[in-house]
Amino acid sequence: MSVTVVGSVNEDVLVAVARLPGRGETVVGRSVIRAPGGKGANQAAAAGLLGPGVHMVGRVGEDAAGDRQLAALAGSRVNVSRVHRTPGLPTGTATIPVEDGSGENLIVVQPGANEALTPEDVDVEPVHRADVLLLQLEVPLDAVREAAATSGGRVVLTPAPPQPLSEELLALVDVLVPNEHELVQLTGATPGERTPAELVALAQRVAGPVVVVTLGARGALLVLRDGSPALLQPPPEVTPVDTTGAGDCFTGALAQALAGGQDLPGAVRYAVAAAALSTTGEGARGGLPGDDEVQAVLA
Ligand code: ADP
Repeated sequence: MSVTVVGSVNEDVLVAVARLPGRGETVVGRSVIRAPGGKGANQAAAAGLLGPGVHMVGRVGEDAAGDRQLAALAGSRVNVSRVHRTPGLPTGTATIPVEDGSGENLIVVQPGANEALTPEDVDVEPVHRADVLLLQLEVPLDAVREAAATSGGRVVLTPAPPQPLSEELLALVDVLVPNEHELVQLTGATPGERTPAELVALAQRVAGPVVVVTLGARGALLVLRDGSPALLQPPPEVTPVDTTGAGDCFTGALAQALAGGQDLPGAVRYAVAAAALSTTGEGARGGLPGDDEVQAVLA
């Protein structure tokens, strides 16, 4: 039972501000928090806290931020032996002013060492023998493609940040996990509110993989390719504190459930419960549940 994540490792620098700055404007921050981040590393941390056998493949710099990211991943039971240190490049950083009260933010990402991930870096045993391989789009596309092509296991892709995907890459993906916004961008549809039935129709326009659309407080939608009806899985009742990173927890949990032998509807049910629990803590890695907590919700 193993899950390997190939993707980004960042440090998030969260600055509390009374008001977000406008163009050319300076505002004074109230406090700064450094938190572990990066879509790839967030997914790995979520999966690691839910079960054993999780490997991360990526790059950080030879700096203190890199040390902090490796320690945070190891603390979430993630094997980091394939997270390479990169001379001459800093660890990726996301600088995020967060407005008091509204919680609205701006994000500036400096990819740093993530940009240096190569196809050779991902041609490694944890990728080849993973039961489930998790991919996103915050590292170079040629590394993503190589990982998908050489993995022996099920390939799960989060299409974020959204960008056009080649038929060649989609053909290598078994499960695509976009949120609503990413699905709309991916299919070139016009932005706007959509009913579940409309989202199913959009998901069916993506040729190839099974599509699992995450719908925030509405849960998730499983769109199979065998003609069976789509399945809407609502979340258990929770009181959300911060939904940052809920999608990453969802994907990490989906991977652990699939690696453990659950079928897709069972894995989506597990992932919806885990992601709902993750919204009860602050930040991308706050509130990430253990397997016993998810089982208690599902019982
Ligand atoms: P992203 O974080 O990528 O924007 P979503 O907002 O769709 O993704 O959230 C991912 C998952 O997290 C959802 O499918 C759901 O299971 C859970 N979730 C998110 N927001 C809430 C909420 N307010 N209440 C319960 N569950 C939530």
